[in-house]
Amino acid sequence: MKPVEEHLAECLAAVTVLPAADVALLDALDCLLDEDVVAAVDLPSFDNSAMDGYAVRVPDVASATSAHPVRLPVVGDVPAGSGERLDLPSGTAIRIMTGAPLPAGTEAVVPVEWTDRGTATVSIAQPPAEGQFLRAAGEDVRRGQVVLRRGVRIGPRQVGLLAAVGRATARVHPRPRVAVLSTGSELVAPGGTLGRGQIHDSNGYAIAAAAAELGAASRHVGLVADDGDAFLAALEAQLATADLLVTTGGVSAGAYDTVKEVLSKAGGVVFEKVAMQPGMPQGFGHIEGKPFFGLPGNPVSVFVSFEVFIRPALRKMMGRQQLFRPEITARLDTDVSGPEGKMQFARVRVKRTKEGWIATPTGGRGSNLIATVSRANGLAMVPAGISTATAGSEVKVMVFRSAED
Ligand code: AMP
Ligand code: MG
Repeated sequence: MKPVEEHLAECLAAVTVLPAADVALLDALDCLLDEDVVAAVDLPSFDNSAMDGYAVRVPDVASATSAHPVRLPVVGDVPAGSGERLDLPSGTAIRIMTGAPLPAGTEAVVPVEWTDRGTATVSIAQPPAEGQFLRAAGEDVRRGQVVLRRGVRIGPRQVGLLAAVGRATARVHPRPRVAVLSTGSELVAPGGTLGRGQIHDSNGYAIAAAAAELGAASRHVGLVADDGDAFLAALEAQLATADLLVTTGGVSAGAYDTVKEVLSKAGGVVFEKVAMQPGMPQGFGHIEGKPFFGLPGNPVSVFVSFEVFIRPALRKMMGRQQLFRPEITARLDTDVSGPEGKMQFARVRVKRTKEGWIATPTGGRGSNLIATVSRANGLAMVPAGISTATAGSEVKVMVFRSAED
């Protein structure tokens, strides 16, 4: 049997980072930038008001107090978005709104709260300092400045900045398009009524969700029966629009294991036994140049296979440096047994205690026990060669997310 590390290394070596493309801003979320973004404009791009209030010249209002307010004629009104060029003659005020361009000659803005809100004349009860409540062009970003560097991950804050400097698109390593196909004549889509011997397709949803969670553009194509021609047709229909293909079911040694049967003949995909439990039968290769993962059918095998092989491969395709989940060392509170020659992946719940991390198995070993996956927040790894990791012993655990969740 092939060691897990060897299979993983082969999968990783066989995928490459997707070439950069210009994508719409919201599609760039979670992607790595492949350009230095240079601001084409100053931010703010013009001098403007930081408050709703009145543009004034400072000496005109220097003596204002609440006991002796200064009264000025209001000679104009500038809402945000106004393109009108106004001059502020001395001895007057112009009403101005937040973000509106400053009339020429403005030395400060008096906030509306310091005034009687007059429209013909305004009574001002407090003097602003020189420059107060003004926003200067370029105080945030200078035109020509690099605002985001190549390699940065685009999050919501970076999307906002790109939009602010006027960019509708960004050059990024795009989200891999993952097409998921569930195979098996026993499958019925969730929502459908089950006949005798039928089960709901859970794998397709689990994989599509896992791929989406890590930032891929995943789609669950649907169900296909254990029929060679139907399977090939369904698979081929996805090739043009997918960067990576995943199927579940039909890769073990049974009589109706269509995926293995059909793709072994076609070439390009190899079906092997990987020394792991769950997840032993694995298909991997390329179909018309697209990476292909043929996962087994049992839901826990699917989940483990995705975590161990597909997730790192997708992260590599996205250009990420860190391909793997964080790992911690935890102490088991229960024995975990597995087949001695295989790496055992045990679903556990880890929690932090005064004595360090403790891992509790979430249920039995059976690779059909999907509820045990939903309760887990990590996968404990018991290396091949150890048949029982005893209670109290330390194991490495890959953690899915903050263990406190
Ligand atoms: P197979 O690898 O096709 O022999 O399937 C192994 C087991 O996984 C069988 O019990 C299948 O019914 C089950 N299985 C296969 N595909 C799915 C799926 N999409 N969702 C849930 N269980 C599945
Ligand atoms: Mg099957």
